[in-house]
Amino acid sequence: MCGIVGILNSSSLKNNSIDILKKLEYRGYDSAGISLFSKERIKTIKSVGKISELKNKAQNISDKNFYGVIGHTRWATHGVVSKNNAHPFANDDLTLVCNGIIENYRKIQNRFVEIPKNIQSDTETSFYFLTYLVNKYKNSDEAIRVFKSVIKGNYAFVIFIKKK
Ligand code: GLU
Repeated sequence: MCGIVGILNSSSLKNNSIDILKKLEYRGYDSAGISLFSKERIKTIKSVGKISELKNKAQNISDKNFYGVIGHTRWATHGVVSKNNAHPFANDDLTLVCNGIIENYRKIQNRFVEIPKNIQSDTETSFYFLTYLVNKYKNSDEAIRVFKSVIKGNYAFVIFIKKK
């Protein structure tokens, strides 16, 4: 399945993450994306297709005011190949990428009204679920603990949550 990367405190977050994704491209080339993050903000760039597409798209983006990055190159398992279904999934406070499959994502969608019902992607479902938990507990450790106890499958996540 996919390739994932997370880097902190590098002087070249954008180029290093894209170079690593390029090395992992054989694991998935449906779409790719990165989220750069700092205490203030999260900046996400996604594209359908190979890493070269992402590289072009990110060309004029500066990573100067960020201290970390997460990235993903996708092998779609749930949800069509599209920009919307590309990882990372992010809002102003949280960004995540996932390698693998969340088997019970439909059950989770049906159980929580906070999760939109038209989502096809297991990872987007996980993103809404974690967002809901972070807002509910106001504590990222507790949110992650509950998240892990509910989701079932074979997976690895890289997650950044901004401290409030
Ligand atoms: N299940 C996720 C998706 O379809 C991740 C697949 C992967 O590991 O690339 O987006």
